Amino acid sequence: GAVTRTPLIAGNWKMNLDHLQAVAFVQKLHWTLKDAKHDAESVEVAVFPPFTDVRTVQTLLDADKIPFALGAQDLSSHDSGAYTGEVSGSFLAKLDCRYVIIGHSERRAYHAESDEVVASKVQAALRHGLVPVICVGETAEDLEVHGTSAVPVAQLTAALAGVAAGAEIVVAYEPVWAIGSGQAATPEQAQDVCAKLRDVVTQAIGGDAADRTRILYGGSVKSGNIAGFMRQPDVDGALVGGASLVVDEFAAIIRYQK
Ligand code: PGA
Repeated sequence: GAVTRTPLIAGNWKMNLDHLQAVAFVQKLHWTLKDAKHDAESVEVAVFPPFTDVRTVQTLLDADKIPFALGAQDLSSHDSGAYTGEVSGSFLAKLDCRYVIIGHSERRAYHAESDEVVASKVQAALRHGLVPVICVGETAEDLEVHGTSAVPVAQLTAALAGVAAGAEIVVAYEPVWAIGSGQAATPEQAQDVCAKLRDVVTQAIGGDAADRTRILYGGSVKSGNIAGFMRQPDVDGALVGGASLVVDEFAAIIRYQK
């Protein structure tokens, strides 16, 4: 079918850029894209700052009418209460966050987030009207034992358990061995896994929703390799870490069609 999905280029800042640096960065990125006459409608841009920056970035986007979507890097599976250090999806929604990253490999590895925790956070995001950006991907060891797709397919199946048909979600396929390593997957590898992940989405929430779902590739995306990924029929954007912290590089990724 001739489904058109608006490509999504998402910048996961991780624990980089404080709120003052965030203002300078977002302004500079906006002006770089404007100077290049980038068509803001053709590609959706989203930034995922640390929690302490979210209010500041929201205010800036609003005041300067900057057409970037805002997201957070994590949320609590709970809505409120005695959960010291946690942040509720309701707070993020009130700050105009549209997206929230869930199950990033760094959360899975350093904070022991299981598939069950990831699934409960997906539910929390949807409860508060946030679009979960569900991250899945195999480690180097998984790759040796199971090949490329088995682990991400199992992770996504678990994350979508109990999600209602037609829900709006984003999926990010991020092979752990490709994250921050400079060693991206090939476009063909990414396509192969992303097509299998779309089948999982179809099974879980239906074919129409799966046709609308953006599936991103992540892991050492740069201006020099983005176009190859974007040419793949089941790759609808990128989740960018390191390269999202460099204005000219991130702008070049956003302008991959040029
Ligand atoms: P990277 O990170 O682009 O620095 O490889 C991607 C990610 O972890 O989302």
